[in-house]
This record gives sequence, structure tokens and C-alpha cells, in this order.
Amino acid sequence: MAPKPRLGISRCLLGHRVRYDGGHKHDPHLISRLEQQVAFVPVCPEVECGLPVPREPLRLMGGPECPRLVTIRTGRDFTDRMAGWASRRLAELQEADLCGYIFKAGSPSCGMRGVKVYDAGGACSERGAGLFAMAFTKRFPLLPVEEEDRLQDPRLLEGFIERLKGRV
Ligand code: SF4
Repeated sequence: MAPKPRLGISRCLLGHRVRYDGGHKHDPHLISRLEQQVAFVPVCPEVECGLPVPREPLRLMGGPECPRLVTIRTGRDFTDRMAGWASRRLAELQEADLCGYIFKAGSPSCGMRGVKVYDAGGACSERGAGLFAMAFTKRFPLLPVEEEDRLQDPRLLEGFIERLKGRV
């Protein structure tokens, strides 16, 4: 039997307890629709770059083009750590020959769009993309990618699956 195509996915969507609060964001409908057809490649940028579970939550700060990844309460800046890890991990994912990727919406690491970006005064001034999602889509601009919240729409989900089939 031919191996299943590999689909990258934000790890918390599979039910792994990797979120800042020790929880997950399991999406049983989405996972059950896809798991017969693909082999998931789970990625949690925040845990894989060395942050613990639980951990202080992060947010984006600065401008949407080049935001920084900073802890909300203590202001620790993990931008460079995330960028260094992402560069290595993206090289691995290139080898994995993914057919696509599903990102967790709204995350300062995984969100593809509309993630809040705060100014120095603590106000949400802009919206942008999470650091890993931004690096991923820059590295693999032609790969089908989606956020899990949009895939709640059956029409968008089936369209995404068709795009995945076009890659295998
Ligand atoms: S959204 Fe991304 S960084 Fe946050 S817990 Fe899920 S996989 Fe990890």
C-alpha cells in the first residue's frame, strides 16, 4: 500500500496538550475527516523551540510586517529563538515533502492572518501573521495551507481536500 501523503498540522489541533495553559484545541470533526487520507505531521513551534507547558502566553508586538514575539506579562522576547528554530524545522519539513498544512488560527506563532499585533502601550493596533506561519508560507508559497476555523465550513474543507489531492 502506498504511504499516505503527509499533512503538517498545529499539534494542539490533534489533542496534544501543548498550549500555554496546558490544554489543547482538539478538532475531532476535522481530524476524523482527514485521518484516513493523510499522515499528520504535528508541529508545535512554541514547545519545539524549547518553551515549557504550561508557559506564560505570548503576543505579537511592533508592526505586522516584522512583529516580535514577546511574553505578555514579563516582556521576554522570543523572536530570535523562534526564528532560529523555524529555520531548522522548515528545512526538515522540506525533506518531509508535505502536501499541505493546517494552522491554528489566532496564535502568535501559528495564526496565518488576523493575529493581534500590539503596540508598546499595550493597545492592539494592527493584525498580522504568527511568526512560524509567516516563515512557513514564505518558504512554501505554493503549498495548500488553511486555518482550522475556516475549515469548519464544509465547502471550504472539501475544497482544501481537493487542493491536497492535487499535490499527491
Ligand atoms: S497554536 Fe501552535 S504554538 Fe500554540 S499550542 Fe498550538 S501548535 Fe503550539
